[in-house]
Amino acid sequence: MTRRFALMIDPVAADEQRTDYGDTFTQVDAAAPALSVGELSTQRGDGVFESIGVVDAHAQEVVAHLERLAHSARLCDLPAPNLVQWRQAVDRAAEQLGAGESVIKLILSRGVEHGPTPTAWVTAAPASDFSAVRENGVRVVTLDRGYDLGAAERAPWLLLGAKTLSYAVNMAALREAHRRGADDAIFLSSDGFVLEAPTASLILRFGDRFVTPAPNGGILHGTTQLSVYEHLAARGFEVGYDRIPATDLARADAAWLVSSVRLAAAITALDGVSLPVDHTLTADLNRYLLSPRD
Ligand code: PLP
Repeated sequence: MTRRFALMIDPVAADEQRTDYGDTFTQVDAAAPALSVGELSTQRGDGVFESIGVVDAHAQEVVAHLERLAHSARLCDLPAPNLVQWRQAVDRAAEQLGAGESVIKLILSRGVEHGPTPTAWVTAAPASDFSAVRENGVRVVTLDRGYDLGAAERAPWLLLGAKTLSYAVNMAALREAHRRGADDAIFLSSDGFVLEAPTASLILRFGDRFVTPAPNGGILHGTTQLSVYEHLAARGFEVGYDRIPATDLARADAAWLVSSVRLAAAITALDGVSLPVDHTLTADLNRYLLSPRD
């Protein structure tokens, strides 16, 4: 059975070159005290993170997640992570996980106020059971994200393309979706374009063409969406990135929310109106996403 634990990481400089970083990891039980009360991650959400799906002890798409962690760190002016060290931490955690689905989280925090280094750790835990949602899909509502498509470029301090620890807004959007009788949400820009879900990317199908909102800095570039695109392209479908007007959503022949741990969830209804669901392709996508991927 998958245990819950964390590996505290003593982060080294990005350009340090060693073959073995084992002595920079300290394993702690998930319930054990490990963080200072002065931590800026807990006080301000000042840090970045990644969630990696793990299937039968194999961590999926680790390189893509490490690259996005480095990208988020850059946007937040955090010291660049040493990707070999982080890779070894992920491998060390994954090898201790059992059969079934788990999740490994990578957290890089600004650290303790006035402290010398960032705080870094990975956690490992069993994943929730998403088999029903993969099969039955999700009802979504559209919610205004409150900024236009140009905001990311105009105001980089909003950190819109970074996967920061400040997810209170994303969680509030999910609660609002639940209040409106839905399971999930799709954020719209204030000028009427489709963005992403609070914890997932959106993929739409129009005939044999699949589109997703262009990750122009305002949204995260999803590792799962990239993986799904590779799979769809190999099957001969056309895939692309677009500016998608919100009015296009209801015209889609099918739509999915995709993310690293829940994987592909078909959208069954949009703002209370049913959307067509392609059960066969959804099952195919989830089979693919559950297969070992590097
Ligand atoms: N967009 C947001 C806001 C997310 O939080 C996530 C994942 O947590 C995604 C998209 C999907 O990213 P990935 O497929 O890499 O999990």
